[in-house]
Amino acid sequence: MDDLVKEAAEAILAGKLVGMPTETVYGLAADASSQEAVLAIFAAKNRPHFDPLIVHVSDIAMAEDCALINELAHKLMKAFWPGPLTLVLPKRDYIPDEVSSGLDTVALRCPNHPLALALIEESKRPIAAPSANLFGRISPTTAEHVREQLGDSLACIIDGGPSSIGVESTVIGFDAQKTVYVLRPGGLSVDALSEVLGYEPSVKSMEAVVAEDLNSRSPGLLKSHYAPQVPVRIKGPADEWPTGKEWGCLAFQDAVEGVAHNEILSANGDITEAAQNLFASLRRLEASDVQQICVELVPEEGLGIAINDRLKRAAGGA
Ligand code: AMP
Ligand code: MG
Repeated sequence: MDDLVKEAAEAILAGKLVGMPTETVYGLAADASSQEAVLAIFAAKNRPHFDPLIVHVSDIAMAEDCALINELAHKLMKAFWPGPLTLVLPKRDYIPDEVSSGLDTVALRCPNHPLALALIEESKRPIAAPSANLFGRISPTTAEHVREQLGDSLACIIDGGPSSIGVESTVIGFDAQKTVYVLRPGGLSVDALSEVLGYEPSVKSMEAVVAEDLNSRSPGLLKSHYAPQVPVRIKGPADEWPTGKEWGCLAFQDAVEGVAHNEILSANGDITEAAQNLFASLRRLEASDVQQICVELVPEEGLGIAINDRLKRAAGGA
């Protein structure tokens, strides 16, 4: 067992915060069964208390301690765990209300990262972990990103290398008839889910979230959630790229000329690579001296749906 994992597990059991690598993004981890530890997460991130946390477990047996698992949820866990699928399920009392922001449901996921799994197994606790960034800022995909924003609040950071997926998990809910719907597109594609479900789950658009008042049911789905510090605009398909030294551009494949800073998500047009590069590219753009950022959307399929969701949120829901 890695010494750092042991040290991190001790910190978790002492109610402290730890930087945890996962395949989606890095998490700000604490003991999900401890009210005080969970409150420390909200304080460190400056996260509003109405935005519930995802609880990370090492297997389905640990998930059973945290929530009531219906048959379909069980089938999906077997198909996709460990992996980037988060399921919102009726909460058991073991998980304090602070985790779920007072909702009677809790969001559960089993991360597909050996160090995250080792940490959960070593501490023998479910681990609450939102992304390890200050509230509303860009999610971290490296240990260095975590150190920059939250280093001072953490007992330690486990460096597990760059996150292999690079966007957050897909969050699903169940309606009264146990029909699945997608609350947040993410690292698991809707196509992969459909194959196991035998139908295509509806993806709640940001408009639906507002219209159906889902914000009160999944409160973290704020329109501008992943916002860089610099204003972001989305380039329409027929628009030209802007030019001038005040601009930074985020392109899918092709270089943009005549701007101060240019990021390319994947020169080969590989959507997996684009997702891996997304948040680091946005961070570099934010850190450059540009006054405005222009981004283009990627093809709306597979992981591209999650990438476009994050880009629209970065643009404030435009
Ligand atoms: P983050 O950990 O920052 O990636 O965000 C986790 C997101 O999962 C939240 O912002 C919510 O949108 C969603 N979520 C967490 N818990 C629940 C819940 N009990 N019900 C519905 N959505 C949830
Ligand atoms: Mg987050």
